[in-house]
Amino acid sequence: MDETLDAIIVGGGMVGAAVAAALGQAGLRVAVVEGGPPPAAIPIEAPFDLRVSSLNLASQRLLEEVGAWDHIPEARRCPFRHIEASDAADKRHIRFSAEALELPDFGHFVENRVIRQALWRRLEEIPEVTTLCHARPVAWLPGGHHSLMELDDGRMLAARLVVGADGAGSQTRELAGIATRDEEYGQRALIINVRTRLPQQDVSWQRFTPAGPQAMLPLPGHHASLVWYDGAEATLAREALDDEALRLAIEHDFPARLGGVEAVLGRASFPIRRRHAERYVRSRLALVGDAAHVIHPLAGQGLNLGLQDAEALSRRVIAAFHAGRDPGGYPVLAGYARERRPQTLAMIAAMETFHRVFTGAAPLRHAGAAGLALAERLEGAKRVVMRHALGV
Ligand SMILES: Cc1cc2nc3c(=O)[nH]c(=O)nc-3n(C[C@H](O)[C@H](O)[C@H](O)COP(=O)(O)OP(=O)(O)OC[C@H]3O[C@@H](n4cnc5c(N)ncnc54)[C@H](O)[C@@H]3O)c2cc1C
Repeated sequence: MDETLDAIIVGGGMVGAAVAAALGQAGLRVAVVEGGPPPAAIPIEAPFDLRVSSLNLASQRLLEEVGAWDHIPEARRCPFRHIEASDAADKRHIRFSAEALELPDFGHFVENRVIRQALWRRLEEIPEVTTLCHARPVAWLPGGHHSLMELDDGRMLAARLVVGADGAGSQTRELAGIATRDEEYGQRALIINVRTRLPQQDVSWQRFTPAGPQAMLPLPGHHASLVWYDGAEATLAREALDDEALRLAIEHDFPARLGGVEAVLGRASFPIRRRHAERYVRSRLALVGDAAHVIHPLAGQGLNLGLQDAEALSRRVIAAFHAGRDPGGYPVLAGYARERRPQTLAMIAAMETFHRVFTGAAPLRHAGAAGLALAERLEGAKRVVMRHALGV
């Protein structure tokens, strides 16, 4: 690749691939530098993977616009029309219904690997996009008209813009000398795929207990993804249980509305932390997705925020490109940061409040339970919360 590219995207995860598809289909010449292999094909009957995300309507719209949505088989996406939150006793509920907002649904639950594979299939259709797998950047040199990036296989790339989409441990962020603010919550999330006695539901619910939330994300058929938050020690002990012991623990601890679990199909746990880059852009470089921000996953908004970054950055870069302006110029990137940072900060603040109120000090926990009953009555407030969750 001798000529100067329009953009190098470091990281071909869901967010990086979305940026690459948006820029590539608008005519920009793009290289995706991915540290791992390309995604493998997923047979339609393959068991459900553990990593599942809720895609809100804004994310769905972006995936439609970049031509990836149709590559997600219907059999592997699960729409949901209701969101419920309840207190520890599972008595007081807040219920959000898509119908009340005159929407067909709130979004879909889809496995991360299915979303990523759909995006990569789309990248293959776009001649302007080149993918370089098993490659990582080792040096970045910004310049007046373009910046240079050296890869660990010795290749040197030149581009007007570098997009860091290489996840929470972003090397691009490090090469650009951008620091982060980090916080450990001291909690882990245990993700458990189960076969349920009840068939697929169109509701996703979350129950707040003093130890942390428990959530049910519906999957197609008699399947669900359960998320069980707790202290690190308790979670690791639970993760080590055999399938039958874990099944019994779920039936004992999860609310009765789960309706019984026939089998545990898989489990894995993740530490819960927050990480926020002190800046999103430098000259000729922008961060998107988890490279820019990692938030508490309790409201399932991490990927949605990342895809909104992808939309905002590509919209601004494409507009500059079509207007004959420098698509990697600082004014374009600064506009992106000004648009996205306040949105992320607002989401971080909301997650903090949820975390503190529901799993924090005892008096606040009681306030949380009372707050649920209160919020149920605040129709107007519910709408505002929902608009945020929808990203519209
Ligand atoms: C327990 C849990 C549950 C979650 N649930 C939800 C949910 O329901 N909804 C939701 O919206 N979000 C959820 N999230 C968050 C969501 O998973 C992330 O926000 C999302 O995966 C971030 O995507 P990304 O593309 O930015 O980064 P990643 O998915 O981390 O992708 C980064 C890519 O970059 C590549 N890479 C890494 N380093 C390099 C390098 N040096 N050079 C080249 N390539 C590199 C990687 O191989 C990978 O392909 C959850 C997170 C957790 C921990």
